[in-house]
Amino acid sequence: MAGQPDESGLMYTSYVFAPPPRITVAVRDSADRFPVRRIYCIGRNYADHVREMGGDPVRDPPIFFSKPADALVAEGSAVPYPPQTADLHHEVELVVALHRGGADIAADQALHHVFGYAVGNDLTRRDLQHAARKSGQPWDMAKGFDASAQMSRITPAERFPQPSAASIWLAVNGEERQRSTLDQMIWSVPDLIATLSGLVTLSPGDLIFTGTPHGVGPLLPGDVVTAGIEGLDPLEFRIAPGS
Ligand code: MN
Repeated sequence: MAGQPDESGLMYTSYVFAPPPRITVAVRDSADRFPVRRIYCIGRNYADHVREMGGDPVRDPPIFFSKPADALVAEGSAVPYPPQTADLHHEVELVVALHRGGADIAADQALHHVFGYAVGNDLTRRDLQHAARKSGQPWDMAKGFDASAQMSRITPAERFPQPSAASIWLAVNGEERQRSTLDQMIWSVPDLIATLSGLVTLSPGDLIFTGTPHGVGPLLPGDVVTAGIEGLDPLEFRIAPGS
């Protein structure tokens, strides 16, 4: 029997095959999980990283791009080394999780839309990204591949009041590769929400990966990555050995 659409006309009650599972993230000190709608990402948001990528932090505005929600890796699973790259890079980032949406959100209202914060990693096929940049093509296959997003449990915003001078860091096999502070971001969290919401309507469940500091570098099969932001749950994952 055919299903009936709901009032939106989009959601049906029966399907030609089982719908894909909803992507969710754990929340600190809660049995309830955060349901993910979209993953937005920011490129070039720390001046020292813009320089290491050959850009000019004064003239280059941040770049918005996205990853599919199902690129998120479940806690505790190993990350397969992806195909079609010989230069897989780590990028530790502050992740902002929204529980209110909207368009044209004012910067001074933006933090009311934030449910919480987490430590994320924006896994990047750097060789494909450089090739795309050189030929003026989109970044999607450099950034939005399978298992390309990792993140820690979300800490509710009231327990991490204002990301300011908190340190952000990442280590590979115990050796530190990235370290900076959140106040080195060129565009603050409120500015990012305000600007992004002028381009697209944001919704509850959206995640924003806010860019990485300098020190990005390659990962190999078997590597163990640990990353943190002062005040948030740490992130740990492993690149599957022999993958
Ligand atoms: Mn990034």
